[in-house]
Amino acid sequence: MTGCPQFPSHTDPLRHWRDVAPDRIALIDRRRNTRQTYRELDAACDQWAALLRERNVGRGDRVAIVAGNRHEVAELFFACMRVGAALVPLNWRLAPRELSAIVAHSASALLLGESRFRDSLTLENMPPWIDLDAPDHRVAEPSVALVPDVETEPDAAALILYTSGSTGQPKGVIIPHRQIFYNAIATTTAWELGHTDIAPVSTPFFHTGGWNVFATPLWYRGGTVVLVDQFDPATFMDGLADERCTVALTVPTQLVMMLGSSNWGRALPHLRYFISGGAPCPSAVMAKVRAAGYNIREGYGLTECGPNCFAISTEESLANPGKVGRPVPFLEMRLMKKDGEIAAVGQPGELQLRGPQMFGGYLHDTERTDDALTGDGWLRTGDLATCDETGLYSICGRTKEMYISGGENVFPAEVESAIASHASVSESVVVGMPHDLWGEVGCAFVVLRDGSSAVSSDELIRFVRGQLASYKAPRAVVFIGELPRLGSGKPDRSALAEAAAALALPESVAI
Ligand code: AMP
Repeated sequence: MTGCPQFPSHTDPLRHWRDVAPDRIALIDRRRNTRQTYRELDAACDQWAALLRERNVGRGDRVAIVAGNRHEVAELFFACMRVGAALVPLNWRLAPRELSAIVAHSASALLLGESRFRDSLTLENMPPWIDLDAPDHRVAEPSVALVPDVETEPDAAALILYTSGSTGQPKGVIIPHRQIFYNAIATTTAWELGHTDIAPVSTPFFHTGGWNVFATPLWYRGGTVVLVDQFDPATFMDGLADERCTVALTVPTQLVMMLGSSNWGRALPHLRYFISGGAPCPSAVMAKVRAAGYNIREGYGLTECGPNCFAISTEESLANPGKVGRPVPFLEMRLMKKDGEIAAVGQPGELQLRGPQMFGGYLHDTERTDDALTGDGWLRTGDLATCDETGLYSICGRTKEMYISGGENVFPAEVESAIASHASVSESVVVGMPHDLWGEVGCAFVVLRDGSSAVSSDELIRFVRGQLASYKAPRAVVFIGELPRLGSGKPDRSALAEAAAALALPESVAI
């Protein structure tokens, strides 16, 4: 991994702001009605750190957590940092089978969570469970702050964030302290953020967007983070106004929901800009946001690098529709064509990234880590981009087989393997089809086994939902006699994607 000799001896920004601006608000949890100053947040983190030490959690250990966006999750992130462990926030939208597989893969020493998720976990070697909804577990001895923090190694894991993969096996992306630190400096520099900035976090903490688009960068700068648990468009708009938020990340699906909310267009005098990220933002949506009087820019990033990879000013974004901007500090970029040549101005190529904001590999998976990176450290993003003569980039497609539904990545291979386990199915291909609200939804083309008993679309969709998170289940199923194939014998996915795009979603599966 990339070296960084100038790295500070420890990276916990709360220690700094606790002393410099103790009474400034660091964290607001709207649902639980808590407002913690830097001093209070720092103290709460120490109490959790004491609990972790009491449970013998230390350097190199992992602590899993299954919970919504609540203040305890943020506290545990810093508590883990203080004892040298990494936090593993779990995607509670996953099916029980998927969730249990991830807990097992992470080999976590401890598992904390909300009571509502306890029954979703059915694994043999369940780590000790701490119920976040039970009375306070934190250790409140006055002496806890006297225990020294574990010295943070730049390459040590701060977070493990699980993402789906093309093989259907979960990938635990190791997010080292180095990545968080450099992303924070790059973001706050390029996006001009400082201690007066206030940002909501409405994307879940099990994604990098929850942590690293605004939360960790603002904690480095002594800013304020507002936690939003369970997104509701009207309540979110009210929260932006009440908390005087200055910047806000949303995925395009959230923006589409907000456009239809009763308080859309209300005055947000403190909001400098919305950032749309996580999926392509339709130009019509950007235009409607602007027509309501708000500023908006498009961001791009991924768990493995950044996640904030580009920066664009409001004015430049307005003048250059569809562009995500220029690389943030420290990040190198190149566009690689299929023939191994670097793309010329205006030509599409795979976006490849290199810099200290790089992940630390996939947990327990050197093979897939090696596949993701070139020998000299460039990350193959699997996304296509172009760069114009002024240095502005646009994301224009993907080389990886994946679609994005409501900001969640879905890998067809995973869905196809779930469909294939149905007794009546011979084979299937899943492609993304455009959808006004979710961006894309899955469409499955299914070939049934000769002589198998009939199966309906709804039945097959329910069958997939029994195995995978519901956002991964296809919304439409088309039964066909045989799959169109390319000369190589592989299914012709592009032809199927075109066919899916021409389909109107049947009422029975419409959202
Ligand atoms: P994740 O690692 O879950 O954050 O997903 C990252 C992926 O989301 C990227 O590799 C892209 O495929 C996609 N993505 C993120 N931002 C954008 C964007 N602005 N336009 C198009 N795709 C995006």
